[in-house]
Amino acid sequence: MKELEHVKAVHCAGCGILLQSEQSDAPGYLPETALKREPVICQRCFRIRNYNEASSVAVDQDDFLKLLGGIAATNSLVVHIVDLYDFEGSLISGLQRFVGQNPVLLVVNKVDLLPKSMNLNRLRNWIQQQAKAEGLRTVDIVLCSAKRNIGFEHVIEALDRYRGDRDVYVVGATNVGKSTLINRLINDYSDLERELTTSRYPGTTLDAIHIPLDDGKSIIDTPGIVYTSRMTEIVPRSFLGSLLPDKPIKPLVYQLNDGQTLFINSLVRFDFVEGERQSFTLYVSNAMNVHRTKLERADKLYEEHRGELLGAPSKEELDEMPPWTRHSLRIPRGVKKDIFISGLGWIQANGTTGAIVDLYAPKGIKVMLRDSLI
Ligand code: GDP
Repeated sequence: MKELEHVKAVHCAGCGILLQSEQSDAPGYLPETALKREPVICQRCFRIRNYNEASSVAVDQDDFLKLLGGIAATNSLVVHIVDLYDFEGSLISGLQRFVGQNPVLLVVNKVDLLPKSMNLNRLRNWIQQQAKAEGLRTVDIVLCSAKRNIGFEHVIEALDRYRGDRDVYVVGATNVGKSTLINRLINDYSDLERELTTSRYPGTTLDAIHIPLDDGKSIIDTPGIVYTSRMTEIVPRSFLGSLLPDKPIKPLVYQLNDGQTLFINSLVRFDFVEGERQSFTLYVSNAMNVHRTKLERADKLYEEHRGELLGAPSKEELDEMPPWTRHSLRIPRGVKKDIFISGLGWIQANGTTGAIVDLYAPKGIKVMLRDSLI
């Protein structure tokens, strides 16, 4: 990344990060013209100071792990925000190792995307089990929608209950809604005097922003961690608006015979290879285009119509993405299972008869069979 070269190593007076003017969503960004501003602060600090508004920045896994490594030595409440819609994709695996003795509050965002009829107790149990399977011990789990302002009072209550005299570290993957949530926190919770602390994390130049609370403690906003195993991270940015659902997902039910194929845009191919006629339910953004065909025609169809009839991304954009890899999955009889495709959604198999399916997705994207969320 290009640092600002004509001036020697300029650091942000707000958070201490080395400034750069190339990548607007990476830490330390400020437009070159803003260098003359006094004091020199990065765009992220500038927004918090002037507009009470947090914005997203992202770092790769290595940088993020360095940052996490420091949390164990602090006395803090770690608030881990995950996206319910991309739960396994947005959970920070190994978080437990890094937080030491500090309590972890799991905030599960975007509950507005699930059907209203959803049983919340069942959902909470499901989350608890998944988190436990990932080795994460949580003091509590809070469900909310930062965007639609659902359950936010529970977030505040939980913060009050578990914070004590600690700082609050907010950690999460990109696109989980961390900025949206922190913006609510800033406005509802802190007595921010539009003044950034210049205190830095001891021993490191971190891009974590300290947002002061009225009791002298801080909310510390850390950069979003980028996982390239999520579809949201590898599609062209212009496509993100279609991929990320904005409204409650309308499940799409397909009655399929074996030997049939579904394409979800040009991103994913689902082959029902073997099994009795049964239904599969798609939980994907309502802006996605689903195309059904015969398995024997699928190769040719994709070759001829990817990026066009099948839907975005375009051929050129697809060529920039990793090629497909095939996941062969055996769905057992008798339990409802989801074929989870990180960042895209999931396909629910109703489990009455069992099935063998093939799922094609860009190489590296997390694809797994899990117990049904719904
Ligand atoms: P960050 O990268 O984690 O800081 O995430 P942002 O706050 O920038 O949000 C990422 C995307 O998710 C944006 O398109 C938001 O509008 C959306 N978003 C955030 N919170 C929610 C929510 O509670 N529900 C829904 N449906 N979308 C949300």
